[in-house]
Amino acid sequence: MKKVLVLPGDGIGPEVVAEAVRVLECLRNESGLAVEFEYGLVGGAAYDVHGQPLPEETLKIAKEADAVLLGAVGGRQWEALPIALRPEKALLGLRAALGVFANLRPAILYPQLAGASTLRPDVVAGLDIMIVRELIGGIYFGEPRGVRTLENGERQGFNTLVYSESEIERVAVRAFEIARDRKGRVCSVDKANVLEATELWREVVTRVGGRYPDVALTHMYVDNAAMQLVRAPKQFDVLVTTNMFGDILSDAAAMLTGSIGMLPSASLNETDRGLYEPIHGSAPDIAGKGVANPLATILSVAMMLRYSLHEPLAAARVEAAVAAVLDRGLRTADIREEGRPVVSTKAMGDAVVAALRASFS
Ligand code: NAD
Repeated sequence: MKKVLVLPGDGIGPEVVAEAVRVLECLRNESGLAVEFEYGLVGGAAYDVHGQPLPEETLKIAKEADAVLLGAVGGRQWEALPIALRPEKALLGLRAALGVFANLRPAILYPQLAGASTLRPDVVAGLDIMIVRELIGGIYFGEPRGVRTLENGERQGFNTLVYSESEIERVAVRAFEIARDRKGRVCSVDKANVLEATELWREVVTRVGGRYPDVALTHMYVDNAAMQLVRAPKQFDVLVTTNMFGDILSDAAAMLTGSIGMLPSASLNETDRGLYEPIHGSAPDIAGKGVANPLATILSVAMMLRYSLHEPLAAARVEAAVAAVLDRGLRTADIREEGRPVVSTKAMGDAVVAALRASFS
């Protein structure tokens, strides 16, 4: 029996997570998927009850779970709190505690939604990129860091970009493994011409690449990669990069698809335990209205089935069910199109569950 910790979080989190859980429940009923749920508090919802965004209790269950499904955290009512108590702080804490070093962010443009992108349909139609971002190292975690006062009284901010060989190797291995199940191409993104830490990055990725002769490896400087992503994004299959570069490039890639409500993510550790969440935030502007798009969270469940629960067929069924409802013309407000009715969060969830159930009959 696999254990899934469900952390609905704040804002639209509980609304979209409820639909994603229904998808897993449907698989449990229809195909005997051996999964059980536990629920926990995180973010502002946890702060309101426990006075902290990531309570010990939540961390404990998260470490025991096979997978964690997270909605989103954050909201205006918690913005004035000290940084350490803000809902968003829980994300870094969860990632670090679970040791999820590989963040997988697919940027997929469903052909049915080609009009949603700000780029020309011929540039993005059929886009299917997987960005693998190193998540718990690099400049976001490097020490020393801080703001110091120099002898002349001027203040100076500083951070440290640091990567050890083992940190680079494990995320590179993950990228090559994923590429094997896709189109067999990895592009490693660095700034090896300027930063020694990423010179080492390039060297280690190249060494790992030697173990995957069936995968084609290329390297690209991050400035060029940013340009190529908006110029000709379909040239990429799997893109592997550092924490900060991945943070920026994955947001740019997400926007190529034009629909933040459609994009899932997975963050994995060495043993395939993972944290699964939509890439969007808690969307306070639409929370409680029942209009949020649940598909990013439902597609995060598909990633969970593939990477942590090792149920690739079930994952494919969920993805096919999502494609089927888009084919039928169902659209939430964020992906609305002229002449098509807009459906609620619940109606979209109902439609996916119905399509999933139908795939068993
Ligand atoms: P956001 O992603 O919450 O919202 C950006 C815009 O996209 C909003 O207009 C929102 O209505 C829309 N949107 C987002 N998800 C949608 C969905 N599923 N369906 C339809 N529309 C959707 O980003 P933001 O407004 O910058 O941040 C809001 C809060 O979320 C902040 O407190 C922020 O810190 C937090 N946040 C949390 C996470 C996370 O939990 N992983 C990520 C990003 C932001």
